[in-house]
Amino acid sequence: MEPITRLYEWFGEQESKRTGEITQPSNRFRPSEMGGCSRAIFYRMRGGLVVEPGRPHMYPISEDGDIGHDIVRWNLRKAGVELDWLDFDEVTGKVVETQAFKYPMDIDGKEYLISGRCDGKIKVHGRWMPLEIKTLNGFGFKYILKAYNEGRILEYLEDKYTKYLIQTVLCADSLGYDETYLIIKDRSSCQVGMHDEANDFREGLIIKNDPALLERMKKKMRSIAKSLETNTEPPRAYTEKSRECGWCPYKEMCWKG
Ligand code: SF4
Repeated sequence: MEPITRLYEWFGEQESKRTGEITQPSNRFRPSEMGGCSRAIFYRMRGGLVVEPGRPHMYPISEDGDIGHDIVRWNLRKAGVELDWLDFDEVTGKVVETQAFKYPMDIDGKEYLISGRCDGKIKVHGRWMPLEIKTLNGFGFKYILKAYNEGRILEYLEDKYTKYLIQTVLCADSLGYDETYLIIKDRSSCQVGMHDEANDFREGLIIKNDPALLERMKKKMRSIAKSLETNTEPPRAYTEKSRECGWCPYKEMCWKG
């Protein structure tokens, strides 16, 4: 078979295995999806879905993100930065995250949980804090860097990348920290972190916990839990032609019924 044709066939097989998890009902919220569409979270947690054939283009995107995380962590380690909550496997090159976090929640007498793993712990200016790494394409990174150089990075992340902030606050707050070190990496240029162009220095972002954001998350979890109890689909968060719906594994069910 033609090699790239075979490669995409394999990507599809891997993606099918990954999304196969959705056949089981779940009471667990995932931090990475909390910034997205409530209806998609509802579909996954309700379970009982027929697994659709894999969407091959999605697999290399998530794989690239995982590898990008590991490259950043290995290089920080080689540079002598102090890290914790990570096991570095010299043989396979993989980095194992050893610190989990969880928020149990009782919603109308039923137990729910939001849980995940931290990207690590890092020492910054003498203080230990959770580490969060995000990788994104050059187009998105360009606007983040612009906002940083214009002194409005937090406002920009709150507006366009709430999902990043949600993950930082969930991990830090549940483990008793009030700040997180966020490193954003550009997948296109491989630039790591922010570059202050006027003063020519580089840094990550220290993100303080936002209690209001945490409360909004808990409210969203309660609302999805109620939709699950009554088996009522939450409203759609995006339009059919949006990029988010294009990437969503539940698109067929959501828009075609
Ligand atoms: S297709 Fe779009 S609106 Fe529907 S569940 Fe997925 S993200 Fe939400």
